[in-house]
Amino acid sequence: MSYLEGLMSGYYWFQLGLIFSLPYVIPRGMHFKKHITILYTSTILCLVLSFIISPMYSEFYAELSKEDIHYRFILNSSINFLLIMVFSLQALSHSKFFIKKISIDKQLAENEKERRTRVLSNLGHELRTQINSINGVTQLILGGDLKEVPNKKYFEILDYCNENMLLLVNDMLDIHKIESGHFELIKEPKALYKFLNKITIPFINKAEEKNLELISYIDAKLKDVVVNVDEKRIAQVIYNLISNAIKFTEQGKITFFVKVIDLNKTNVVIQFKVKDTGIGIAPHNLNKIFESFHQIKNEKNPVYGGTGLGLAISQSIIDAMNSEISVESRLGEGTCFQFTLKLQREEALPNAQINTDAFTGDFSLNSTILVVEDNMVSMMYAKKLLEKHVTKVYHGTNGAEAIERIKEHKDIDLVLLDLEMPVMNGFKAIEHIKKIRPDVIVIAFTANIPSTEILNKLDSLGFDDILSKPFNKHQLFTVLQQYTLQTEA
Ligand code: ADP
Repeated sequence: MSYLEGLMSGYYWFQLGLIFSLPYVIPRGMHFKKHITILYTSTILCLVLSFIISPMYSEFYAELSKEDIHYRFILNSSINFLLIMVFSLQALSHSKFFIKKISIDKQLAENEKERRTRVLSNLGHELRTQINSINGVTQLILGGDLKEVPNKKYFEILDYCNENMLLLVNDMLDIHKIESGHFELIKEPKALYKFLNKITIPFINKAEEKNLELISYIDAKLKDVVVNVDEKRIAQVIYNLISNAIKFTEQGKITFFVKVIDLNKTNVVIQFKVKDTGIGIAPHNLNKIFESFHQIKNEKNPVYGGTGLGLAISQSIIDAMNSEISVESRLGEGTCFQFTLKLQREEALPNAQINTDAFTGDFSLNSTILVVEDNMVSMMYAKKLLEKHVTKVYHGTNGAEAIERIKEHKDIDLVLLDLEMPVMNGFKAIEHIKKIRPDVIVIAFTANIPSTEILNKLDSLGFDDILSKPFNKHQLFTVLQQYTLQTEA
């Protein structure tokens, strides 16, 4: 109608400019693309409609009486007023929506800040507990407060604290990987029966200390079954469930069941269960325990320690294996965690894995090894482990020194090469080493937890294998024996 009024209609065109500038006037308006699209589309639709409809009424305007003009003017003004109201309301509702969104964002940021503070204080507490024990034992040994020569017991305490701190750091790295979407499984053919039979061994002492019975039933159908699996990650889940079961049980027993549900030529379906007779979990807490850093705390619960990460990590691992962990529990009666995995069967184990029980007694490897490591303690540890069992050990503290040793000593047939070193790192050093001696075996030595990306990079650079730090004697020689000849000592 404005259009049909001829010149008069120009008075209303300014509204179009207003409507189109609205999103720029509202703070953060450009972030809400959906709403702005609705606003623009409805405006353009109104405009197009008026262009289509108005010519249909053109003849009525040919001879307009004064009353008609008056009537049209009132109608026109009213419609304009209504439109302004509608657009203002729309603008208001958008502003309200934006303000609500901003306050939700603010609340989320505050929650995240609170979570971080809780996480840090939890972690700090757990680390300080271990450091306190290490401090206590070293002060006793160094301060001369001990009447007797420090015996194995004190070193066992240090070893225990060391292991706990390592677990803590690994949990932190795992949760970081999970939250940033970089978590992945590293699958290999493995025979699960033997491994599952031994999995409760590290917990025997802990259960005995609390007078708890620790029972494990492993289905005999698993004997001789080789599957493609990330064995370390399955172990991590089971360790976490069993250690929780022991931690939260004061009397009774812990049972670990492994049952074969289905076994055919290509797959095996296995059910895992960890059951305890402990304090149990209230129904309203059953879902929360899988959230990272969540621990059930109330006046009745004594402080059990821990970070609240174990179940969150376990659930993500099982999730990556296309399954889920479920939990049944009754307060005061006990808890049962279970998950079922469908694993792909493999023909047989690769040869290198068969001899996993070696390296307990006397043995020697027919090999001359160069250890390249900038950390003096790691170097001392690796050299001490190697010296007794290999032909000769040379050492270097950076990539440049490694190249020199390789040029000097033609008898070196294997290099343990740290990746992060000053002067020249392992990634650069291997290029030169392989040019001088293409036949030499080079094993990467790293404190990073290997991912597919790192493994691929190492592979393309010519590394033959990888050894993660910290490592024990068994892990070191399991890797080495694949590349060297073993002779009876
Ligand atoms: P953490 O054991 O380090 O606290 P978890 O993620 O492993 O962390 O467990 C989270 C919480 O779930 C525990 O703090 C505990 O409250 C509860 N929980 C886990 N397992 C059990 C269990 N077997 N019995 C009772 N409560 C449990």
